[in-house]
Amino acid sequence: MKSAILTDLTKCIGCEACALACKEINELPVSAPMNMLSAYTWSAVEHRNGVNIRRQCMHCEEPACVSACPVAALEKTKEGAVIYDAGKCMGCRYCMVACPFGVPKYEWDKSIPTIQKCILCHEKALSQGKEPACTSACPTGATIFGERAALLREAQKRIDENPGSYVPHIYGMREAGGTSVFYLSAVPFADLGFPGNLKEDPYPKLTWKVLSKIPNIVSTGGVLLLGIWWIINRRIKLQDENPPSV
Ligand code: SF4
Ligand code: SF4
Ligand code: SF4
Repeated sequence: MKSAILTDLTKCIGCEACALACKEINELPVSAPMNMLSAYTWSAVEHRNGVNIRRQCMHCEEPACVSACPVAALEKTKEGAVIYDAGKCMGCRYCMVACPFGVPKYEWDKSIPTIQKCILCHEKALSQGKEPACTSACPTGATIFGERAALLREAQKRIDENPGSYVPHIYGMREAGGTSVFYLSAVPFADLGFPGNLKEDPYPKLTWKVLSKIPNIVSTGGVLLLGIWWIINRRIKLQDENPPSV
């Protein structure tokens, strides 16, 4: 099954139960603010123009973050989640630059930082046949989990049956080539801080169109970064094998 999340902003009461459930299942510090995404808040609830806006990774169908990562630390699973392996991450932050939604965040305060973001509860819920913690915690059904095509049909049905309650747009259906997280809203998405100028072509396709014109830069940069990554990993391994005495 190809999983997805539909968040209907007209039903969100801003209680932050989704954000808190995300912190609990992922063992993230509750002290980190829940009104914006950060390395320690993978599910946020922003309050803007009188609307409560749940934010998380969009789990793009063809993710730019995956194609930009030189060491394949990020991966799109067949179930729809875009996951990552912190052990592979070399901290280059290419994914942060590539993501059209500004989702990946960096652990700026750590000595060996990695990227952090929502992983659609891939390991702790999806792979065990359970739904993500955030959707199961929502008391109003504002954010729901389900099969991608079924959720798209549900979203369209809500718009068709209540045209006065929604702007006629399912955000995420086409943006950046389509995502696995969709939004409905009564307020235009541009007024809520959703990127409005996104191409409908998948971003990896666009990225490679540009990169293919500068092959020397790509290959030189790639070799350099891989070298840095090798040195960092070797240092970590040496530290693990020979921990400093206290
Ligand atoms: S929203 Fe950004 S981080 Fe999430 S899958 Fe898409 S490109 Fe990757
Ligand atoms: S799907 Fe899981 S990791 Fe993603 S926001 Fe929801 S609880 Fe957090
Ligand atoms: S749990 Fe549901 S109602 Fe509460 S903030 Fe999250 S999406 Fe909104």
